[in-house]
Amino acid sequence: MRASRIYIHIPFCRKACIYCNFHFTTQVTLISAFTEALITEIHQRKAELETSYTSIYFGGGTPSVLHTEHLHQIISAIHNYSKAQQNTEITLEINPEDVCEDRLKAWLQLGINRFSLGVQSLNASELHWMGRTHEISKIHEVLALFKTYNISNYNIDMIFGSGKIALQHWKTALEQWVAIKAPHIAAYQLTVEPKTVLHKVQRRGHFQLQTDDALAAYFTTTHEILTQHGYQHYEISNYALPGFEAQHNSAYWNAEPYIGLGPSAHSFDGLNRRINASGVKAYIEHAKKKTLQFKLESLSINERFNEYILTQLRKQKGIAWDSLQQSFEPPIYRHVPKILEKWNQCITITNTGFHLNLKGMLMADAICSDLFIV
Ligand code: SF4
Repeated sequence: MRASRIYIHIPFCRKACIYCNFHFTTQVTLISAFTEALITEIHQRKAELETSYTSIYFGGGTPSVLHTEHLHQIISAIHNYSKAQQNTEITLEINPEDVCEDRLKAWLQLGINRFSLGVQSLNASELHWMGRTHEISKIHEVLALFKTYNISNYNIDMIFGSGKIALQHWKTALEQWVAIKAPHIAAYQLTVEPKTVLHKVQRRGHFQLQTDDALAAYFTTTHEILTQHGYQHYEISNYALPGFEAQHNSAYWNAEPYIGLGPSAHSFDGLNRRINASGVKAYIEHAKKKTLQFKLESLSINERFNEYILTQLRKQKGIAWDSLQQSFEPPIYRHVPKILEKWNQCITITNTGFHLNLKGMLMADAICSDLFIV
């Protein structure tokens, strides 16, 4: 299956955030060499790119640390092989401290038409604790620039659950986004991932995750405030005003194929997954020798089913019976009705399919693992 979705991993950050386990380096002096390596990968994978694309997503890392000339080179290299379809979405993840008027204008000129702004918190001491480098005033500056340049398609990334702010402060932050009609809000629960600074801090006894009940209160409050103001809670962590759902990320949740470029990036063609090797320096060296490293995984039918459940059940729409029947033979999903019955307080079943209710979204991990074939 040809992919029309392109993910580009930009593995650079100015500073590590306490909770982050994404693949990145703070060695920004490697950016030029990395850009060259990425362009080499684009040329090497031209056969996969020889189609028109519907979305490009620059994720990371922090793609906004790239000079606009680097972004220009990357987009131009893609345009050698793949042309933009109509209404193409090109998203750039940006951190507030990287934004200024000149850069914003340059990004718009490059065709970037959606921005994902890493805000995370509207509380200065919580931001500091997270290791974020931006000031609250900078966030407001960026929003003012969005207004000046009529940027209507953007996402605000927020994190709850650090225990550093009260539920009331979280509510106030959401109300601020509602007041300015931020078109898309991603509200993630803080998790402690292995090998992160937060994990070490937790092990030393200086951090404790909040209780499940406390976290559920943040999740439910977010749902209530945002849905009361017209946002669709269209995926467990994602809310959008009508027409502003993230096209690129929705493609992942719909199990559409995509191409991933850059170190650690994944690609998926509907049957197989390609996983690029991590390590920025190694990526640069291998690109020079034209020996880029990656792993190919051919998904078994059980793995495909588990992946299907994991991604599709995250959507508010859930899973349609039609889609399940078209994707798999009956023996693969014969256990599903029994599991749905077990979780009947958490799952709504209709004639057309089944989806998680709010309680179910809180239990998504447990429900998915019950549905998985092991
Ligand atoms: S800016 Fe984003 S990718 Fe970089 S360390 Fe922080 S959370 Fe991770």
